[in-house]
Amino acid sequence: MKKLLPTSTAGSLPKPIWLAQPETLWSPWKLQGEELIEGKQDALRVALQEQQHAGIDIVSDGEQTRQHFVTTFIEHLDGVDFEKRETVKIRDRYEASVPTVFGPVSRQKPVFVDDAKFLRQQTNKPIKWALPGPMTMIDTLYDDHYKSREKLAWEFAKILNQEAKELEAAGVDIIQFDEPAFNVFFEEVNDWGIACLERAIEGLKCETVVHICYGYGIKANTDWKKTLGSEWRQYEEVFPKLQKSNIDIISLECHNSHVPMELLELIRGKKVMVGAIDVATDVIETPEEVANTLREALKYVDADKLYPCTNCGMAPLARNVANAKLAALSAGAEIIRQELIAKELAA
Ligand SMILES: [Zn+2]
Repeated sequence: MKKLLPTSTAGSLPKPIWLAQPETLWSPWKLQGEELIEGKQDALRVALQEQQHAGIDIVSDGEQTRQHFVTTFIEHLDGVDFEKRETVKIRDRYEASVPTVFGPVSRQKPVFVDDAKFLRQQTNKPIKWALPGPMTMIDTLYDDHYKSREKLAWEFAKILNQEAKELEAAGVDIIQFDEPAFNVFFEEVNDWGIACLERAIEGLKCETVVHICYGYGIKANTDWKKTLGSEWRQYEEVFPKLQKSNIDIISLECHNSHVPMELLELIRGKKVMVGAIDVATDVIETPEEVANTLREALKYVDADKLYPCTNCGMAPLARNVANAKLAALSAGAEIIRQELIAKELAA
Protein backbone atom coordinates (compact mmCIF):
# COMPACT_ATOMS: atom_id res chain seq x y z
CA MET A 1 0.00 0.00 0.00
CA LYS A 2 1.88 3.01 -1.27
CA LYS A 3 -0.80 5.67 -0.96
CA LEU A 4 -0.30 7.96 1.98
CA LEU A 5 -3.12 7.91 4.57
CA PRO A 6 -5.18 5.08 3.06
CA THR A 7 -8.77 5.37 4.25
CA SER A 8 -11.03 2.57 5.45
CA THR A 9 -14.03 1.96 7.69
CA ALA A 10 -14.08 0.10 11.00
CA GLY A 11 -16.51 -2.38 9.49
CA SER A 12 -20.26 -2.33 9.08
CA LEU A 13 -22.27 -0.15 6.73
CA PRO A 14 -26.07 0.23 6.59
CA LYS A 15 -27.94 -2.61 4.91
CA PRO A 16 -30.31 -1.96 2.00
CA ILE A 17 -34.01 -1.79 2.85
CA TRP A 18 -34.77 -5.02 0.96
CA LEU A 19 -32.26 -7.02 3.00
CA ALA A 20 -32.88 -5.89 6.58
CA GLN A 21 -34.76 -3.24 8.54
CA PRO A 22 -32.90 0.06 8.09
CA GLU A 23 -31.36 1.95 11.01
CA THR A 24 -31.74 -1.12 13.20
CA LEU A 25 -28.77 -2.87 14.71
CA TRP A 26 -28.74 -6.67 14.35
CA SER A 27 -31.99 -6.58 12.34
CA PRO A 28 -33.17 -10.03 11.14
CA TRP A 29 -32.93 -10.82 7.42
CA LYS A 30 -35.91 -10.07 5.20
CA LEU A 31 -34.99 -12.87 2.77
CA GLN A 32 -34.42 -16.61 3.14
CA GLY A 33 -32.52 -19.46 1.52
CA GLU A 34 -31.24 -18.83 -2.02
CA GLU A 35 -32.84 -15.39 -2.07
CA LEU A 36 -30.89 -14.44 1.05
CA ILE A 37 -27.58 -15.59 -0.46
CA GLU A 38 -28.22 -13.54 -3.59
CA GLY A 39 -29.55 -10.62 -1.55
CA LYS A 40 -26.40 -10.52 0.59
CA GLN A 41 -24.18 -10.63 -2.49
CA ASP A 42 -26.09 -7.77 -4.09
CA ALA A 43 -25.89 -5.78 -0.86
CA LEU A 44 -22.15 -6.44 -0.75
CA ARG A 45 -21.84 -5.10 -4.31
CA VAL A 46 -23.73 -1.94 -3.33
CA ALA A 47 -21.68 -1.42 -0.16
CA LEU A 48 -18.49 -1.88 -2.16
CA GLN A 49 -19.64 0.51 -4.87
CA GLU A 50 -20.51 3.15 -2.28
CA GLN A 51 -17.11 2.84 -0.61
CA GLN A 52 -15.32 3.09 -3.94
CA HIS A 53 -17.51 6.02 -5.00
CA ALA A 54 -16.58 7.81 -1.77
CA GLY A 55 -12.89 7.20 -2.48
CA ILE A 56 -12.27 4.73 0.35
CA ASP A 57 -8.92 3.04 -0.27
CA ILE A 58 -9.18 -0.18 1.76
CA VAL A 59 -12.63 -1.61 1.18
CA SER A 60 -14.74 -4.23 2.95
CA ASP A 61 -18.04 -6.07 2.55
CA GLY A 62 -19.61 -3.49 4.86
CA GLU A 63 -20.61 -6.57 6.90
CA GLN A 64 -23.56 -7.13 4.56
CA THR A 65 -22.94 -10.86 5.01
CA ARG A 66 -23.66 -10.96 8.72
CA GLN A 67 -26.40 -10.01 11.10
CA HIS A 68 -24.18 -9.54 14.15
CA PHE A 69 -20.43 -9.02 14.36
CA VAL A 70 -19.99 -11.79 16.95
CA THR A 71 -22.93 -14.19 16.90
CA THR A 72 -23.02 -14.76 13.14
CA PHE A 73 -19.56 -16.30 13.43
CA ILE A 74 -20.45 -18.34 16.52
CA GLU A 75 -23.64 -19.67 14.87
CA HIS A 76 -21.42 -21.62 12.49
CA LEU A 77 -19.51 -23.40 15.25
CA ASP A 78 -20.16 -26.70 17.01
CA GLY A 79 -20.45 -26.80 20.79
CA VAL A 80 -22.79 -23.82 21.16
CA ASP A 81 -26.53 -24.22 21.69
CA PHE A 82 -28.49 -21.21 20.46
CA GLU A 83 -31.76 -22.59 21.85
CA LYS A 84 -30.48 -22.91 25.41
CA ARG A 85 -30.10 -19.34 26.59
CA GLU A 86 -28.89 -17.76 29.81
CA THR A 87 -28.82 -14.14 30.87
CA VAL A 88 -25.34 -12.66 31.32
CA LYS A 89 -23.90 -9.19 31.55
CA ILE A 90 -22.09 -8.26 28.34
CA ARG A 91 -18.96 -6.18 28.71
CA ASP A 92 -20.05 -5.50 32.32
CA ARG A 93 -22.57 -3.12 30.77
CA TYR A 94 -25.88 -4.60 29.71
CA GLU A 95 -27.77 -7.83 30.37
CA ALA A 96 -28.55 -10.06 27.42
CA SER A 97 -29.91 -13.51 26.80
CA VAL A 98 -27.04 -15.45 25.23
CA PRO A 99 -26.41 -18.96 23.83
CA THR A 100 -24.76 -21.69 25.92
CA VAL A 101 -21.46 -23.45 25.33
CA PHE A 102 -22.32 -27.10 26.09
CA GLY A 103 -19.34 -28.99 24.65
CA PRO A 104 -15.99 -28.57 22.87
CA VAL A 105 -16.18 -25.70 20.36
CA SER A 106 -15.00 -26.35 16.80
CA ARG A 107 -15.40 -25.08 13.24
CA GLN A 108 -16.55 -27.78 10.81
CA LYS A 109 -16.33 -25.54 7.75
CA PRO A 110 -15.30 -22.00 6.80
CA VAL A 111 -17.68 -19.25 7.90
CA PHE A 112 -16.94 -16.17 5.76
CA VAL A 113 -14.46 -17.52 3.21
CA ASP A 114 -16.93 -17.74 0.30
CA ASP A 115 -18.12 -14.20 1.02
CA ALA A 116 -14.54 -12.99 1.07
CA LYS A 117 -13.82 -14.73 -2.24
CA PHE A 118 -16.87 -13.02 -3.71
CA LEU A 119 -15.66 -9.62 -2.49
CA ARG A 120 -12.18 -10.35 -3.90
CA GLN A 121 -13.71 -10.97 -7.34
CA GLN A 122 -15.44 -7.58 -7.29
CA THR A 123 -12.50 -5.26 -6.72
CA ASN A 124 -8.77 -4.79 -7.17
CA LYS A 125 -8.51 -2.57 -4.11
CA PRO A 126 -7.00 -3.90 -0.88
CA ILE A 127 -9.72 -5.63 1.15
CA LYS A 128 -10.16 -5.85 4.89
CA TRP A 129 -12.23 -8.53 6.60
CA ALA A 130 -13.49 -8.36 10.19
CA LEU A 131 -13.75 -11.26 12.62
CA PRO A 132 -14.73 -11.11 16.28
CA GLY A 133 -11.83 -11.31 18.73
CA PRO A 134 -11.61 -14.24 21.18
CA MET A 135 -12.29 -12.16 24.29
CA THR A 136 -15.33 -10.45 22.80
CA MET A 137 -16.64 -13.87 21.70
CA ILE A 138 -16.49 -15.41 25.17
CA ASP A 139 -18.17 -12.34 26.59
CA THR A 140 -21.33 -12.96 24.54
CA LEU A 141 -21.82 -16.58 25.69
CA TYR A 142 -22.76 -18.58 28.75
CA ASP A 143 -20.04 -21.20 29.26
CA ASP A 144 -21.34 -24.45 30.74
CA HIS A 145 -18.48 -26.59 29.47
CA TYR A 146 -15.00 -25.10 29.90
CA LYS A 147 -16.10 -23.02 32.89
CA SER A 148 -13.08 -20.83 32.30
CA ARG A 149 -13.09 -17.62 30.25
CA GLU A 150 -9.43 -18.08 29.46
CA LYS A 151 -9.75 -21.69 28.26
CA LEU A 152 -12.70 -20.86 26.04
CA ALA A 153 -10.86 -17.86 24.60
CA TRP A 154 -7.88 -20.06 23.66
CA GLU A 155 -10.21 -22.48 21.89
CA PHE A 156 -11.78 -19.63 19.94
CA ALA A 157 -8.33 -18.27 19.09
CA LYS A 158 -7.46 -21.60 17.44
CA ILE A 159 -10.71 -21.57 15.47
CA LEU A 160 -10.20 -17.93 14.41
CA ASN A 161 -6.72 -18.82 13.23
CA GLN A 162 -8.14 -21.51 10.92
CA GLU A 163 -10.66 -19.04 9.51
CA ALA A 164 -8.06 -16.25 9.18
CA LYS A 165 -5.66 -18.47 7.25
CA GLU A 166 -8.40 -19.33 4.77
CA LEU A 167 -9.42 -15.69 4.44
CA GLU A 168 -5.80 -14.85 3.68
CA ALA A 169 -5.71 -17.58 1.03
CA ALA A 170 -8.94 -16.13 -0.43
CA GLY A 171 -7.07 -12.87 -1.07
CA VAL A 172 -7.93 -10.79 1.99
CA ASP A 173 -5.18 -8.19 2.54
CA ILE A 174 -6.00 -7.17 6.09
CA ILE A 175 -7.77 -9.23 8.76
CA GLN A 176 -9.33 -7.31 11.61
CA PHE A 177 -10.34 -8.64 15.00
CA ASP A 178 -13.03 -6.67 16.81
CA GLU A 179 -12.20 -6.56 20.50
CA PRO A 180 -14.39 -3.99 22.28
CA ALA A 181 -13.91 -6.22 25.33
CA PHE A 182 -10.29 -4.97 25.42
CA ASN A 183 -11.71 -1.67 26.65
CA VAL A 184 -13.29 -3.29 29.70
CA PHE A 185 -11.40 -6.30 31.11
CA PHE A 186 -7.92 -4.80 31.44
CA GLU A 187 -6.45 -7.41 33.76
CA GLU A 188 -7.55 -10.29 31.54
CA VAL A 189 -6.39 -8.46 28.42
CA ASN A 190 -2.90 -8.19 29.86
CA ASP A 191 -2.91 -11.70 31.36
CA TRP A 192 -4.11 -13.66 28.33
CA GLY A 193 -6.29 -11.52 26.01
CA ILE A 194 -3.47 -10.21 23.85
CA ALA A 195 -1.76 -13.61 23.90
CA CYS A 196 -4.98 -15.20 22.61
CA LEU A 197 -5.15 -12.64 19.83
CA GLU A 198 -1.57 -13.47 18.87
CA ARG A 199 -2.60 -17.13 18.72
CA ALA A 200 -5.43 -16.14 16.35
CA ILE A 201 -2.97 -14.46 13.94
CA GLU A 202 -0.23 -17.10 14.19
CA GLY A 203 1.38 -17.85 10.83
CA LEU A 204 -0.48 -15.13 8.90
CA LYS A 205 1.41 -13.14 6.31
CA CYS A 206 -1.33 -10.60 5.64
CA GLU A 207 -1.69 -7.57 7.88
CA THR A 208 -3.71 -7.79 11.08
CA VAL A 209 -5.75 -5.24 13.00
CA VAL A 210 -7.30 -5.12 16.43
CA HIS A 211 -10.30 -2.78 16.61
CA ILE A 212 -10.98 -1.39 20.09
CA CYS A 213 -13.81 1.08 20.40
CA TYR A 214 -16.49 2.44 22.69
CA GLY A 215 -19.18 0.75 20.63
CA TYR A 216 -22.06 1.60 18.35
CA GLY A 217 -24.15 4.63 19.18
CA ILE A 218 -26.78 2.54 20.99
CA LYS A 219 -28.27 3.55 24.35
CA ALA A 220 -26.38 0.97 26.48
CA ASN A 221 -23.13 2.38 25.11
CA THR A 222 -23.98 6.07 25.32
CA ASP A 223 -25.18 5.54 28.93
CA TRP A 224 -21.93 3.74 29.74
CA LYS A 225 -19.89 6.54 28.17
CA LYS A 226 -21.58 9.02 30.52
CA THR A 227 -20.04 7.14 33.47
CA LEU A 228 -16.50 7.32 32.11
CA GLY A 229 -15.79 10.90 33.14
CA SER A 230 -14.27 13.70 31.10
CA GLU A 231 -11.11 11.82 30.09
CA TRP A 232 -11.33 8.29 28.72
CA ARG A 233 -8.04 6.63 29.62
CA GLN A 234 -9.11 2.98 29.06
CA TYR A 235 -6.67 2.58 26.16
CA GLU A 236 -3.80 3.40 28.50
CA GLU A 237 -4.30 0.06 30.31
CA VAL A 238 -3.73 -2.13 27.27
CA PHE A 239 -1.56 -0.03 24.95
CA PRO A 240 1.85 -0.88 26.45
CA LYS A 241 1.34 -4.60 25.90
CA LEU A 242 -0.31 -4.10 22.50
CA GLN A 243 2.67 -2.03 21.41
CA LYS A 244 4.88 -5.07 22.02
CA SER A 245 2.45 -7.51 20.37
CA ASN A 246 2.60 -8.97 16.87
CA ILE A 247 -0.58 -7.14 15.80
CA ASP A 248 0.27 -4.79 12.92
CA ILE A 249 -2.47 -2.17 13.17
CA ILE A 250 -4.57 -0.79 16.03
CA SER A 251 -7.99 0.65 15.17
CA LEU A 252 -9.26 3.28 17.61
CA GLU A 253 -12.05 5.70 18.37
CA CYS A 254 -10.64 9.23 18.29
CA HIS A 255 -13.12 11.78 16.88
CA ASN A 256 -15.57 13.39 19.34
CA SER A 257 -14.44 10.94 21.97
CA HIS A 258 -12.89 11.85 25.29
CA VAL A 259 -9.79 9.78 24.61
CA PRO A 260 -6.75 12.01 25.17
CA MET A 261 -4.89 11.85 21.87
CA GLU A 262 -1.50 11.73 23.59
CA LEU A 263 -2.28 8.13 24.64
CA LEU A 264 -1.38 7.20 21.04
CA GLU A 265 2.23 7.85 21.99
CA LEU A 266 2.07 4.57 23.93
CA ILE A 267 1.70 2.62 20.69
CA ARG A 268 4.21 4.62 18.65
CA GLY A 269 5.67 2.35 15.97
CA LYS A 270 2.37 0.58 15.31
CA LYS A 271 0.13 1.47 12.40
CA VAL A 272 -2.99 3.18 13.69
CA MET A 273 -6.47 3.32 12.18
CA VAL A 274 -7.53 6.67 13.58
CA GLY A 275 -11.29 7.01 14.02
CA ALA A 276 -12.07 10.41 12.54
CA ILE A 277 -15.80 9.84 12.02
CA ASP A 278 -18.25 9.71 14.94
CA VAL A 279 -20.73 6.88 14.36
CA ALA A 280 -22.94 7.82 17.32
CA THR A 281 -24.41 10.92 15.65
CA ASP A 282 -26.15 11.75 12.38
CA VAL A 283 -24.24 15.02 12.18
CA ILE A 284 -21.94 14.83 9.15
CA GLU A 285 -18.36 15.82 9.87
CA THR A 286 -16.88 18.51 7.67
CA PRO A 287 -13.67 17.57 5.83
CA GLU A 288 -11.92 20.18 8.00
CA GLU A 289 -13.12 18.45 11.20
CA VAL A 290 -11.79 15.13 9.91
CA ALA A 291 -8.52 16.85 9.00
CA ASN A 292 -8.27 18.35 12.50
CA THR A 293 -8.54 14.92 14.13
CA LEU A 294 -5.93 13.48 11.76
CA ARG A 295 -3.63 16.47 12.29
CA GLU A 296 -3.83 15.93 16.05
CA ALA A 297 -3.14 12.21 15.63
CA LEU A 298 -0.10 12.96 13.48
CA LYS A 299 1.64 14.34 16.56
CA TYR A 300 1.78 10.77 17.89
CA VAL A 301 1.52 8.57 14.79
CA ASP A 302 4.09 8.65 12.00
CA ALA A 303 2.51 9.76 8.71
CA ASP A 304 3.32 6.49 6.95
CA LYS A 305 1.51 4.60 9.71
CA LEU A 306 -1.68 6.65 9.88
CA TYR A 307 -4.85 5.12 8.43
CA PRO A 308 -7.88 7.44 8.56
CA CYS A 309 -10.94 5.45 9.60
CA THR A 310 -14.34 5.59 11.30
CA ASN A 311 -14.71 5.27 15.08
CA CYS A 312 -16.74 2.09 14.72
CA GLY A 313 -19.26 0.48 12.36
CA MET A 314 -22.02 2.52 10.71
CA ALA A 315 -24.73 -0.18 10.44
CA PRO A 316 -27.32 1.72 12.53
CA LEU A 317 -27.07 4.93 10.47
CA ALA A 318 -29.24 5.96 7.53
CA ARG A 319 -27.55 5.16 4.22
CA ASN A 320 -27.35 8.78 3.08
CA VAL A 321 -25.75 9.73 6.41
CA ALA A 322 -23.20 6.91 6.20
CA ASN A 323 -22.34 7.81 2.60
CA ALA A 324 -21.89 11.48 3.47
CA LYS A 325 -19.60 10.49 6.34
CA LEU A 326 -17.52 8.29 4.02
CA ALA A 327 -17.15 11.23 1.63
CA ALA A 328 -16.11 13.49 4.52
CA LEU A 329 -13.50 10.94 5.61
CA SER A 330 -12.01 10.88 2.11
CA ALA A 331 -12.03 14.65 1.74
CA GLY A 332 -10.51 15.17 5.19
CA ALA A 333 -7.74 12.66 4.51
CA GLU A 334 -7.01 14.40 1.21
CA ILE A 335 -6.52 17.75 3.00
CA ILE A 336 -3.84 16.19 5.20
CA ARG A 337 -2.26 14.31 2.28
CA GLN A 338 -1.81 17.63 0.45
CA GLU A 339 -0.36 19.23 3.58
CA LEU A 340 2.13 16.39 3.96
CA ILE A 341 3.13 16.61 0.30
CA ALA A 342 3.55 20.41 0.57
CA LYS A 343 5.71 19.94 3.66
CA GLU A 344 7.78 17.34 1.86
CA LEU A 345 8.33 19.70 -1.09
CA ALA A 346 9.27 22.55 1.21
CA ALA A 347 11.81 20.46 3.10
ZN1 LIG B 1 -16.31 -0.75 17.08
